[in-house]
Amino acid sequence: MKLAIVGTGYVGLVTGTCLAELGHDITCVDIDREKIGMLNQGEIPIYEPGLDELIEKNKERLTFTTNLAQAIEGAEAVFIAVGTPDKHGRADLSAVFKVAESIKAAANDYLVVINKSTVPVGTGKKVQNIFADKDLDVASNPEFLREGAAIGDFLNPDRIVVGTATQQAKEVMQRIYEPLTTQGRPILFTDIPSAEMIKYAANAMLATRISFVNMLAPLCEKAGADIQTVAKGMGLDTRIGPKFLNAGIGYGGSCFPKDVKALIHTLKEHDCQASILESVESINAYQKRLAITKLKKFIPILNGKTVALWGLAFKPETDDIREAPSLVLIERLKREGAFIRAYDSTAKEAVEKLHPDITYTETPLEATETADALIIATEWKEFQQINPELIKAKIIIDGRNVFDATKMRELGFTYTSIGRQ
Ligand code: NAD
Repeated sequence: MKLAIVGTGYVGLVTGTCLAELGHDITCVDIDREKIGMLNQGEIPIYEPGLDELIEKNKERLTFTTNLAQAIEGAEAVFIAVGTPDKHGRADLSAVFKVAESIKAAANDYLVVINKSTVPVGTGKKVQNIFADKDLDVASNPEFLREGAAIGDFLNPDRIVVGTATQQAKEVMQRIYEPLTTQGRPILFTDIPSAEMIKYAANAMLATRISFVNMLAPLCEKAGADIQTVAKGMGLDTRIGPKFLNAGIGYGGSCFPKDVKALIHTLKEHDCQASILESVESINAYQKRLAITKLKKFIPILNGKTVALWGLAFKPETDDIREAPSLVLIERLKREGAFIRAYDSTAKEAVEKLHPDITYTETPLEATETADALIIATEWKEFQQINPELIKAKIIIDGRNVFDATKMRELGFTYTSIGRQ
């Protein structure tokens, strides 16, 4: 099928590449000329494991352009995968509507306009209204991929969710995903509002699990329990399951924080209760400050002290720093007058643009040289493989429970982590 994707960011580029891998003929569109220029030169503007190889493999079926009209010419469907960032606690839908207007202006034939961006319930209807006098159908196809594992998630999804309002749109969607459904991947067809809700409900539930465990972590510390053991015991219950029960210094990223906020907003807009999610948010905000709170127990005055920071990305295997706990830590440490020596193999450049005034090192161990303390903010695998005896900082705040607490204390570190003894 000939398909277009508007918005060539994390979701759009992965979606386009994976749909090309499934055999479709894809044109990816973006307003960012630099990004399209890079892609046309064979450079990949984001870090996502395996993406460069897959783009190279499917280059015959992938076109990159800034021209939307050209992209949808002869296409059977167009995906909208532009950003829907947080704007004062709600989803900013201006890019989605702008793209919808451009599609309306450029479309000559029937086309299914598939919204892949995360949008509040009711948005599909608003987009359909934009198309009132055109033969265009709207579909909702929320994306569940995780950065760092995006290709595997797209090609082997737990489920594909598709909301449609017409049989014709449903048939187009069925054909797009046929290569995956014939391999047994489940597809759930729903109405459009339910599909829109599923995305927010899923992200809010995952964020809730994280904040739930983070709520229990301080009690574990005070009462002599271990949150990792508690989470393991909970997770063995098949009704609960083991995932997203890791205590730490909070969730970040481009999705959970903004989606939780947006769902709270939508709930309130419809006069519904949002108190669980308000608590999820406030616990997360507390967690993001927790590493400094813990550090100050050992170094009450940070002015003039040097703090090493391991991990800048909001999670491992990505260069995405949106809403990363590391940013909260850097700002606070700078305010307190501390010197920062930061290390992240992948997200360094993005943070350097925001904070050119701190030191970035080439290796994690180098960051700990001359440091009074080390904070671990992201659980990159490489940190687990480091011989802790080589860490120079004597105080360690392990915000991701990377190291074995007993061993670290035996090695003479003043070591504290989250929810453990
Ligand atoms: P992103 O910021 O990486 O990419 C968005 C792209 O859209 C950018 O390249 C931008 O230049 C482009 N764009 C903006 N306006 C445009 C326009 N008018 N025409 C053409 N292109 C335009 O965002 P993302 O992380 O890919 O997220 C996209 C959507 O997918 C969001 O709604 C997000 O919530 C959702 N989502 C993201 C993830 C994730 O892990 N990143 C996962 C699931 C869902």
